[in-house]
Amino acid sequence: MSIQKDILLKDLTTFRIGGPAKHFCVVRNEDELIEAVNFSKKYRVPFFVLGGGSNILVADEGFEGIVIKMEMKGVTYKEEGTDVFVTASAGENWDSFVSQIVEKGLYGLENLSYIPGTVGAAPVQNIGAYGSELKDTVISVHVLDVVKDEYKDLSNTECKFSYRDSIFKEDPKKYIVLSVTFRLSNRGTLNIGYKDVQEYFDFKKIKEPTLKQVRNAVIEIRQRKLPDVKEYGTAGSFFKNVIVPNAQAQALLKKYPEMILHKVNDKKVKIPIAWILDHVCGFRGVKKGNVGTFRNQALVLINHGGATAAEIIALAQKMVDEVYDKTGIEIEPEVEYVL
Ligand SMILES: Cc1cc2nc3c(=O)[nH]c(=O)nc-3n(C[C@H](O)[C@H](O)[C@H](O)COP(=O)(O)OP(=O)(O)OC[C@H]3O[C@@H](n4cnc5c(N)ncnc54)[C@H](O)[C@@H]3O)c2cc1C
Repeated sequence: MSIQKDILLKDLTTFRIGGPAKHFCVVRNEDELIEAVNFSKKYRVPFFVLGGGSNILVADEGFEGIVIKMEMKGVTYKEEGTDVFVTASAGENWDSFVSQIVEKGLYGLENLSYIPGTVGAAPVQNIGAYGSELKDTVISVHVLDVVKDEYKDLSNTECKFSYRDSIFKEDPKKYIVLSVTFRLSNRGTLNIGYKDVQEYFDFKKIKEPTLKQVRNAVIEIRQRKLPDVKEYGTAGSFFKNVIVPNAQAQALLKKYPEMILHKVNDKKVKIPIAWILDHVCGFRGVKKGNVGTFRNQALVLINHGGATAAEIIALAQKMVDEVYDKTGIEIEPEVEYVL
């Protein structure tokens, strides 16, 4: 494995922003991973694990350490009755993997279709969409514990999954994900209760969609709502939704009765930040210099070409401040800053 120098990170992220990585390597197997980690330890430089670069904003100055790009490949299947245990390597493209799963008639990941990125990054923020989250099907995550220098299998509980969060975010320098094992089923039930999905099938007058139809529906809905990463520089939703106690949500609902809340449990609800950014703050489709928000979705920040990380951060801060001033809600980025 060769360790390269000064590799421009903007070419490796969907935002198309970011300066050079001082050191850079592509890792295709365990030996190469160990070599990369040892380089970081030996020369006392920080490491950053890169997947598809679809959830990060890299500083204009770049990264003063070693970027380890995960390209380990492979998918294995083990059938036990109606359950199928599927293990996918970290460097597999997430949506190609989901496509393969659906082709095989396995249920469980179809609502997570068309999310950019890699399998290895998927547990990091417990990717979620259309009423499903990664945690619903994960059995275990195989990791390298960089601190203890050992391989481990973390169970679903040990991963501490929650909304866009997991143990991997607690200490990003501790674990590197090598593979993820899912329990899928060849006789599952479909989850089509999410509003957009339900409306899609109502419109098409399809009462009992097939597994493939659900995947296709999710892809179509996403293509309508979200920017195409081939056309726009973006990292998808820039901010996380906010989960608040019922009382706080009710007070907001009095002010904004049209806002649709999502129940989390008996005590808490999820506030749709996209709705607030759009209807309360008027941020949908704004453009300032090289940056803006997507015309169909205020939560999605866009690099219109030649934008800097500083410009994105300035717009994001303006959005944070305005949401707080108007609603008292503190929003946080979902996108990770690599600064
Ligand atoms: C258009 C668009 C739509 C999106 N829609 C959704 C959505 O619906 N739901 C959703 O949840 N997300 C969504 N995202 C965000 C993004 O796709 C996910 O977070 C995805 O899992 C990131 O994968 P990646 O490989 O690109 O990770 P990267 O951006 O490369 O990295 C993200 C984080 O994961 C870490 N990481 C990467 N690989 C590993 C590894 N092997 N081991 C340890 N850490 C690792 C990185 O260090 C970093 O902290 C969207 C993004 C875009 C651009």
